[in-house]
Amino acid sequence: MSRPKKPPYAVDPHNCGCTECILGDYVSLREATDRQIALLLTGQLGNNTGTEFRITVQWSLSGDFRPGPPTVESVLVTADLWDGPTLTWDLTSQLDGPLGRMFDPSATDDR
Ligand SMILES: [Zn+2]
Repeated sequence: MSRPKKPPYAVDPHNCGCTECILGDYVSLREATDRQIALLLTGQLGNNTGTEFRITVQWSLSGDFRPGPPTVESVLVTADLWDGPTLTWDLTSQLDGPLGRMFDPSATDDR
């Protein structure tokens, strides 16, 4: 995947205050936006966080006799920090790009 041509280029640990974070080349996890977390999860932003992310995806399946593939309803991401709070991002508004394909069962290559 292509890396963004404009900063930030990576997400740093949640309490980071390094020169790159101050200059805006990187962004600390606590200041990362929903969009930046979506880019991190799809590999478009570097991940310097050292943090495990938990992703909760809710799909819905139509009630048709032969339902199509499930539809992604919501994507919530949390990071439970060992030295800080639990951070949460609602990525439901970020599903129009690569993140949406990540959770779309009809977007696989093997059909
Ligand atoms: Zn930093």
